[in-house]
Amino acid sequence: MQCPYCKKEMKEGILSGDARQGVSWKEGDRKASLFDKMGGSCAVTAAKCGLSVFTIQAHFCPGCKKMIIDTDVEK
Ligand SMILES: [Zn+2]
Repeated sequence: MQCPYCKKEMKEGILSGDARQGVSWKEGDRKASLFDKMGGSCAVTAAKCGLSVFTIQAHFCPGCKKMIIDTDVEK
């Protein structure tokens, strides 16, 4: 994938972390609340959660410090 900022080739990799909190995205300047998460909203669908880790396929541009992921957010 070509970086939309600098047009150089982006690196492809796997983003990973702690699965207990999952991965959330919420519009605006406040993070997803526990209530949002319990209701199943704001979940980033690209995050594949296992017992203790999550993984996301991501393209990374080291020059621009940007990542691009294909995903959706549960309403
Ligand atoms: Zn770039």
